[in-house]
Amino acid sequence: MESADVVIVGGGIMGCALAYQLSKRNVDVLLLEREMLGSQSTGKCAGGVRQQFSSEGNVRLQQRSVAMLEHFEEETGHPADFRQIGYLFLLTQPQQVEDFRHNMEVWHRVGLAEARWVDAAEAARMVPILNVEDVLGCTFCPSDGIASPADVTSGYAAAARRHGARLKEGVAATGIDVASGRVQGVRTTAGDIATRLVFSCAGAWSASIGRMAGLEIPILPYRRHIAVTGSFPAVPRDNPMTVDFQTSLYFHPEGDGVLIGMSDREEPPGFVTDVNWEFLEKMFAQAARRAPALSAAGVKTAWAGLYEVTPDHQAILGPIPEVEGFWCAAGFSGHGFMQAPAAALFLAQMLLDHTSEVDISSFAFERFARGSLVKERNVI
Ligand SMILES: Cc1cc2nc3c(=O)[nH]c(=O)nc-3n(C[C@H](O)[C@H](O)[C@H](O)COP(=O)(O)OP(=O)(O)OC[C@H]3O[C@@H](n4cnc5c(N)ncnc54)[C@H](O)[C@@H]3O)c2cc1C
Repeated sequence: MESADVVIVGGGIMGCALAYQLSKRNVDVLLLEREMLGSQSTGKCAGGVRQQFSSEGNVRLQQRSVAMLEHFEEETGHPADFRQIGYLFLLTQPQQVEDFRHNMEVWHRVGLAEARWVDAAEAARMVPILNVEDVLGCTFCPSDGIASPADVTSGYAAAARRHGARLKEGVAATGIDVASGRVQGVRTTAGDIATRLVFSCAGAWSASIGRMAGLEIPILPYRRHIAVTGSFPAVPRDNPMTVDFQTSLYFHPEGDGVLIGMSDREEPPGFVTDVNWEFLEKMFAQAARRAPALSAAGVKTAWAGLYEVTPDHQAILGPIPEVEGFWCAAGFSGHGFMQAPAAALFLAQMLLDHTSEVDISSFAFERFARGSLVKERNVI
């Protein structure tokens, strides 16, 4: 029977980053991906990387991720195409301004000194296509930006393979053997694997991996859409990622066009990822209100993927004490591309050093039993 020190279930950004961090430290890793590496949420994502979160844990995690992406090529030998064009949050409600004042204090306290307030007039200079008539204020962080999900995932995967990790595509985990309260192995579509440690990195499908070990992991799938326009010079390559916080509409330059996204907050959870064109009409109408020139941009392509949402919109990182040897690295609630680099580093440190350079205890699974949930509020 095949065996591994660690089996990682799921080969999105999280599984690949973790395979890299563990194999780099000589852990014998086997990763199972039932489709193709990076083909699910990771491959559908907008590539946004920001530090402007409401919870301090997320800000600290993201500061490390940004630093890792800045040095990604030195570290892995592969490009990340990380372009620090900044994130501009447009605030249109007095309560949002109040909340972001508090956020700004947190950001400055933890060393995100470059984050700053921008008034509507400056926002209009930064992003000339914006309609800012209802904008009360904005926050801007120039070290935020966008990176390439395909490059970062394949970079981590290639570097993990160089360190000896086995990454298998087209192989699904079908069961987890647990005896005497501890993991003994993983059953797959290509045979059984003996292991004493499993990481669930299965994104929106993590609840089903938990159930294989008799665990209830509170992660639900929510469909999210993106459209990309044809060439659109009015949004140049250095246009900041712009977020209309009230509606969740966002856009950023993508090639010579524009990538536009928005969340349908009415839609119930589900695994369907067909494009809902009726919703896209609403998204385009909102885009035309916020940036009227965008209504002239033709749509080149559109798709939908899944957010993997926890009750407090925070990831679940670390061991699940009910089953020894079962660890979770999932539930990023729409922020997993940007969070995976640091999450993988810190989880490898937790496993091998029993401590991590940034405290990730606020992401522990036990918070649900304790009821000590701190909601991440900057969710788009
Ligand atoms: C439209 C959209 C826009 C987004 N924009 C951003 C953004 O700008 N920035 C950002 O940081 N995040 C963004 N996200 C969220 C981001 O895509 C996810 O948080 C992130 O990709 C999660 O990575 P993951 O590796 O945990 O999950 P995934 O990439 O989904 O990987 C999980 C993998 O597990 C595999 N799997 C499932 N079950 C099994 C099994 N039984 N056996 C083997 N393999 C299995 C799946 O096939 C899948 O490949 C966006 C998401 C969407 C949908």
